[in-house]
Amino acid sequence: MRRMAFGAVRAICFDLDNTLWEIEPVLQRAEAILADWLRDRYPRIPERFPAAEMLAMRAALSRDEPHQAHDFTYLRRETLARAAAAAGYEPESCASIAHAAFDAWHAARNQVTPYAETLPALERLKARFRLATLSNGNADLARIGLAHHFEVSLNAGLLGCAKPDPRAYEAVAEALTLEPAEILFVGDEPHADVLGPRAAGMHTVWVNRRGSAWPDLLSAADASVVHIGELEALLAET
Ligand SMILES: [Mg+2]
Repeated sequence: MRRMAFGAVRAICFDLDNTLWEIEPVLQRAEAILADWLRDRYPRIPERFPAAEMLAMRAALSRDEPHQAHDFTYLRRETLARAAAAAGYEPESCASIAHAAFDAWHAARNQVTPYAETLPALERLKARFRLATLSNGNADLARIGLAHHFEVSLNAGLLGCAKPDPRAYEAVAEALTLEPAEILFVGDEPHADVLGPRAAGMHTVWVNRRGSAWPDLLSAADASVVHIGELEALLAET
């Protein structure tokens, strides 16, 4: 861990998935709920397109429409609409089937359980720092019940670009009306949450809950923590 002065930091911008809560079990459950929902209402869709096939269709759509690749909501809805049409449902009802199916999935996607450290850490940190979030995912912080902790919450769908695109971090700095050097970025993904924000001029802390090795060829974050409960002490040292 490289020592770093965090004295200039006035705001902390958090990644969401796997930084404030664990996402994999949530996504697994959401897929299962969507599968049940489709089987009950539009069974020809899962019969024709099992989950693995839907995933492949989304990946293909993302490749075919790179300008939309950052927008997971669009990719998921459009794939559902195309699957509904290909499965033989009325063309004029496919968009509404896709919207309703997406809503069933999205409700489950927002049923996250914050890590035990998350709420106490946010409560303490917001007394000293302005707080923000920047996610490539489509979590809804209002539905999750965490929106009130953050002054600024941005995501790839909203911005039209995804981390590590420099414009995503610039948008956070602009929304906070701070210089990048006054912002600490905190997250679990080396490229999206460390290299990207550092290239944009921000301080960085890598959240490494799983005890992973930092990728050899990449230069390390300013500091690393196991969970965000360690941030307060880290920032107090400077
Ligand atoms: Mg993450």
